[in-house]
Formats: sequence, structure tokens, C-alpha cells
Amino acid sequence: MNILFISANRARTPLPVMPAGACLAAEAAAAAGHHVTMLDLMFGENPDRALDNAIAQSSPGAVCISLRNIDNNAMAAPVSYIDFLPGMVQTIRKLSPAPVIIGGAAVGVMPEELLRRGGADFAITGDAGDGFTGLLGLIESGGDGAKTPSVLPGSTGPCNGTAVIPDFGRWVNVSRYRAAMASVPVRTKSGCGFGCAYCTYGAINGKKVNIRGPEEVARAIEKCIARGFRDFEFVDDVFNFPKEHAIAVCRAIAPLRRRARFQCLELNPLFLDGELLMEMERAGFNAIGVTVESASDAVLRGLNKGYGAKEVREAARVVARHGMRCMWLFMLGGPGETEETARQTLAFAEDAVRPGDLAYVTCGIRLYPGTPLEKTARAEGLLTATPEEMLEPVFYRSPAVPLPAMLAMVEDAARRNPHFHIAGERLPRFAPQLLKIGGMLGLRPPLWRYSPMMKRGLSALGLRP
Ligand code: SF4
Repeated sequence: MNILFISANRARTPLPVMPAGACLAAEAAAAAGHHVTMLDLMFGENPDRALDNAIAQSSPGAVCISLRNIDNNAMAAPVSYIDFLPGMVQTIRKLSPAPVIIGGAAVGVMPEELLRRGGADFAITGDAGDGFTGLLGLIESGGDGAKTPSVLPGSTGPCNGTAVIPDFGRWVNVSRYRAAMASVPVRTKSGCGFGCAYCTYGAINGKKVNIRGPEEVARAIEKCIARGFRDFEFVDDVFNFPKEHAIAVCRAIAPLRRRARFQCLELNPLFLDGELLMEMERAGFNAIGVTVESASDAVLRGLNKGYGAKEVREAARVVARHGMRCMWLFMLGGPGETEETARQTLAFAEDAVRPGDLAYVTCGIRLYPGTPLEKTARAEGLLTATPEEMLEPVFYRSPAVPLPAMLAMVEDAARRNPHFHIAGERLPRFAPQLLKIGGMLGLRPPLWRYSPMMKRGLSALGLRP
């Protein structure tokens, strides 16, 4: 059967992200004997025309739309990434009788809601695996037993039997991604059992951690290096848990360090120590990220992070002893946040985040159905939207700290510290062109390390948005 895949993500700032999930799903469909065409909408100027052409040329028996994010998670400047979906499904219906399947990370978060809003036939949660290929088989055989509309699980088994890294060159224009300085995403495991109050990953990827063999990971990276890739980003839910596995991965990839650069933004302070960072440095990591969220015990408890301010401070001490650039991620406004706790977190950031590093600060927490934070918000009378209405960005913000006060505090800190970045902060319109020039001049990921320099330069020229 002919299958048309559409990778719908067009978000190019701060950087385009290579569509690993869509490519892995395409590979699963091809391995099941289907003839697969990929339409990647990331760079094209006219997505409508591209869709018309792709349907005309591929005569699909099924159309699969991959959705990466529902929105940008930024309370101060929310942007929806799914508004186009009903229109796209209607266009497909006009041009083809093929059933429409939606999948991707966004669908794992709100499958029923996206299925209803988009008007598709099926929603696949999780990674593409046997559930997905089984559905394609049913459609090919005439659809008996495939009830529409319905939500179906995509995969079963540890790491779903899919490749660590898809063969991107088979599906997308890798030169465009390389020119835009995109890194190759690498997952060394799936699942997270920590249960942070706001998080949906456990529902999407499962609570049980399934790991991939470190040698398998290293072999997949080596294959990519042979195809000309140099920059790799580990995108596990938590890279350093189990810590022993993270260290084993570092040791397996260390022989590749002269030909590759690695980064990872998902380090949990609870499992961060000198031994791990030394192994990461030896393996060739040039940048890391620590997701601390807050430096207040009360707020960390409210978020159910499983660690406190003491562990956060210890993580900062350990990072300071190593040379890798570090992005620190903070999230203000959680349950229990007050003006005082927000000040405490910002004071920690000003003290601990080195000027060459980056403090990324989010105000307010995106609420998703089924999370403990959704229950808290309803119990506190802060949320009345139905699950479907939650497709429009809705946020939790502690009632003890008014939004203007919180924003003023963060903006004030960002004015004093060019290495602070506020989520949703506008980038200059010409940022993509700047990136292109930067790439030609030899800048390499992670680009956030150049952010303070760029901000200082733009301010000096009076061009800061
Ligand atoms: S550790 Fe990360 S992935 Fe796991 S539940 Fe918490 S926020 Fe989610």
C-alpha cells in the first residue's frame, strides 16, 4: 500500500528539529512492506501546494500526519502549533479517500482531543511499532475491524524494536537541517517513572525505563558520522538515570569523540556527580543542561521533583568544577510559589549560573489533562476548561504570585544578566539568517551558548526586539 507521511512541524526557531519520530514510523511502515513517501514541511515555502502535489503523486492508501508539539509552552507569549490540523485533514479528504492517521509526541499528550479537533480517523499514541503497522495492515486489507475514529497504542516492547537513529537521508533533506545547525537526536532509553506533577512523559513513553545497549547506541552514532553528521543531542526523558547506563553510554561513544560533538539537556540534579560529568567530558560532550525547575524546597515539593534545594546547590557546585557549557532550566509559578520563593530561585540563578552558561526561565506551567497538576488546578479553582479546551494553552500559576510581579522579577533579572533567557522571548525576525551566517562562519551547536553574545551585540546596535 502507498503511504504518505507528513512531518508537519514548521517551527524553525530557535532551531529546526530533525523529525526522528516520523522517520522511524516511516521506516517501520516500509519494513512492513509498504511504499512510503515522506513530505517534510519544515523548510518549504508553500505547504498547501506541497500537500496537493504529494497526494497527487503518491495516491496514498493511508496518510499519516506527525505532530511534534501542541504549542510553545510559553505563558507570556503562547503560540499554537496545531491550528492548521483541521484544515489539513479537510484538504486531504477532498483530494483522497485514504484514512488519516495522526501520531507524534503531541498526540501522545492529548490523543482523544486531537483526534476530535483534527477530524482524523485514527490517533496513534507512543512510538510507531507493531500497533501502528498492524493498523496499516488492517487498512490495506479493507479496514474490517478498524473502527473509526479511534485511539490506538503504537508500540509495545523495550524501545519498540526501532532503530536508535533513523536513516534520515532516506526521508528528509539532511543538507537543509545540517545548514540550519540541527543536531541528530539520539534516544538511549524510553520511559520515566519519576512522576513530576506537571509531566506527561510517563503517559507517553511509559513509567518503566527500557534501555538500549550502549554499544548499539555507539554503532548507530558511528553510522551517522560516516554519513557526514557531527552533532548529536541525547534526548532521553532523563539522560542520567540510571546513572550506570549513562556512564556506560559515555564509555561506548568516547572513541568517537574526535569525529563528533555531543550534548544533552536532560540531566536530573539527583544523579549528577563528578564521576558522571568526567565521563561525559571524556566522551566529547560540549554542553549539558540541568533541569532544576526551582531552588525552593516548597516549590520542588509541590512539583514532586524528588529532590530539594540542597541537591540543586550541590549540582551547581559539581557543574562549576567542569568545563562543559551548561543550560539551567527553571520554571517559576508552580504550586507553593510565592514572590519570596521566586526571588530565591532567581537569586540562585544569578549566583550559580556562570556568565558563559544560560539560565532558561519559564513563567507558568502548561497544564495537560491527566497530570496531578491538572487535579491541583481544578481543586484550587484555577482551571475550568474541559480537556478538549485544554488544546488551547492553559497554564498553572500559583495564586500567591501575580503574573505581572513574576514577569517583572524575571525581566529585571534578565536585564542584569544577558545569559538569562525568558521562554517566549522574541528573537529578532532575522534570527534564521543570523544562524545561517553563523553556520557558514563555523559556529556549531549548541547555539544557546552564543545567546548572551548575540543579545549584547543586538543591544549595542539598538536591534533588540
Ligand atoms: S523526570 Fe522529567 S520526564 Fe520524568 S516525570 Fe519528571 S519531568 Fe517528566
